[in-house]
Amino acid sequence: MKLNKELPSAVKLVAVSKFKPLEDILEAYGAGQRVFGENRPQELAAKAADSRTPSDVEWHMIGHLQTNKVKLVVPCVAMIQSIDSVKLLKAVNDCAASIGRVVESLLEVHISSEESKQGFSEEELVALAPHLGEFGAIRFRGVMGMASFVDDESVVRGEFRNLKRISERIRNLLPNDFREGFDEISMGMSHDWRIAVEEGATMVRIGTDIFGARY
Ligand SMILES: *Cc1c(COP(=O)(O)O)cnc(C)c1O
Repeated sequence: MKLNKELPSAVKLVAVSKFKPLEDILEAYGAGQRVFGENRPQELAAKAADSRTPSDVEWHMIGHLQTNKVKLVVPCVAMIQSIDSVKLLKAVNDCAASIGRVVESLLEVHISSEESKQGFSEEELVALAPHLGEFGAIRFRGVMGMASFVDDESVVRGEFRNLKRISERIRNLLPNDFREGFDEISMGMSHDWRIAVEEGATMVRIGTDIFGARY
């Protein structure tokens, strides 16, 4: 386990613990880490419910979330980073409202040229932004994105730069009261987080670099 020490202090580290046992999480916790990212609802819920898990661990859902799994994660997450459709947004809002919670969320933006990646397009978000005040049980904190998995650094940098631009555009379209809190840009993983930080990431999601390869 190797927590990254070179991050600027203003950038939040999400330690991506998917596929890793709770022991690894507890070791990172012992070294001071509090924020952990998971991408499978059952795994997140099971780790959160484990009696060995300290109560101040913050769980972030970072992977694609199906609407029928929303009820597994809404009670135990600090943040859902992967809101990628209006259907999911409504499901999260309804679920959170039903248990009296307000869930912090990021809007996932499709910034890569790869078809397979999830997320809203810029134009979808432009249309959606003025309506985000209608979802009273979600606190929208910003955007999340994944760059293309390519060696060409200029491509990756351009995609991160685009995400920051989109976040600013969306922010300006939000209802007035929502703008100030919309300040998070979650971008950067083990292989590209340095570029993401240079391009304005406020959160990076790092798994392999901390916990080793997943098998
Ligand atoms: C797995 C995952 C990460 C971390 O990836 P690493 O390459 O292991 O650092 C970050 N973001 C998302 C959405 C992921 O699914």
